[in-house]
Amino acid sequence: MPHPNNPTLRSFIEVDPASDFPIQNLPYGVFSTNDGLAPRVGVAIGDFVLDLWQLEQDCRIDVGNAGVFAASSLNPFMAVGPKVWAKTRARISELLRHDNPELRDNESLRERVLVPMTKVKLHLPITVSGYTDFYSSKEHATNVGVMFRGKDNALQPNWLHMPIGYNGRASTVVVSGTRVRRPRGQLKPPNADTPGFGPCKRLDFELEMGVVVGQPSAMGEMLSEAQAEAMIFGFVLLNDWSARDIQQWEYVPLGPFQAKAFATSISPWIVTREALEPFRLAGPEQNPTPLPYLRQAQPNNYDMALEVALRAPSMAAPQPICRTNFKYMYWSSVQQLMHHASSGCAMNVGDLLGSGTISGPEKSQRGSLLEISWNGSEPRQLPGGITRTFLEDGDSLIMRGWCQGDGYRVGFGEVEGTIVPAE
Ligand code: MN
Repeated sequence: MPHPNNPTLRSFIEVDPASDFPIQNLPYGVFSTNDGLAPRVGVAIGDFVLDLWQLEQDCRIDVGNAGVFAASSLNPFMAVGPKVWAKTRARISELLRHDNPELRDNESLRERVLVPMTKVKLHLPITVSGYTDFYSSKEHATNVGVMFRGKDNALQPNWLHMPIGYNGRASTVVVSGTRVRRPRGQLKPPNADTPGFGPCKRLDFELEMGVVVGQPSAMGEMLSEAQAEAMIFGFVLLNDWSARDIQQWEYVPLGPFQAKAFATSISPWIVTREALEPFRLAGPEQNPTPLPYLRQAQPNNYDMALEVALRAPSMAAPQPICRTNFKYMYWSSVQQLMHHASSGCAMNVGDLLGSGTISGPEKSQRGSLLEISWNGSEPRQLPGGITRTFLEDGDSLIMRGWCQGDGYRVGFGEVEGTIVPAE
């Protein structure tokens, strides 16, 4: 049987070469329709969702743990482990292949298990156990450092020695399409003597990837590179909404708190680590050499195109404001996970790790408005004479990402969020 990543595979379902969801992808999500059934697990294929619960009911798929696909999150399926993840993906690939009549020629089964994408509502795909956000793009950290501390002290002394992060809030991780209320908080502009409380005036996005942790680690135990990698179930697009003015006043000495706690948006489809395997490459050279517990024996970065677009209420179409690539990240997701567990911190099924804002070396590759507008000093021009330094009420922010194969792409769909007023 050919491997599910084989680039020559075709499905009996027509899939446009520009679609994010060819047979080489098979990302997992949680969906419902207006049929009255509860949200359940499905896989995206072209313009359809394959209903895994219905396939299980029909004994076409067996993960040895009945009911995992009836769940309203992927946590129970993730808990069964990497061997079953691989076996399940191979079986789904087999069922969807153009040369396999099992589903292709069974009309009543097809009607039950293939749901047009236009008829589904997509839900938050995981129950988020914990949310941690990192700061692992050297270009982003340098840009921010230059803005606030000057060129000579751009990177903090610890930055090149470990993936810097903070523990965020799992409670406000939401799925794409969820509207985001402008946060309120304590604000003290640099020229004010005392702080006030009110709506954030410098609301920003951060282009990130999210790692979905699919296996636990025990409290007190460190992780090897192989162990950390095997715990990663997949990736989502992640927008780490940020209130820059709240952050500026609150972040010393313990780091971001309310500035990052009000909302984090993720895309509904989890692209598996296995599907990204053909796009693996080495990240930037790490100098100084990381301490032994952070060393990598293999490349752990991915060649993944990323794009951010903004649509102000009066604009007909979203306008791209950033095009970059996940490959630029200095610290890899595997290193972030190894570092996270290194003190003895236990990891849980359903933990979400934000990569940190993904910026690249070029000006057009900046992954936040803080960088694009250089802290508000260089307003970004948009069509129709519109300018932006930070996000305004009614603005929509859309992120997309994909790995380009030969004649197909393994993509993430999108994560979208629209800002609604604070009051
Ligand atoms: Mn962030």
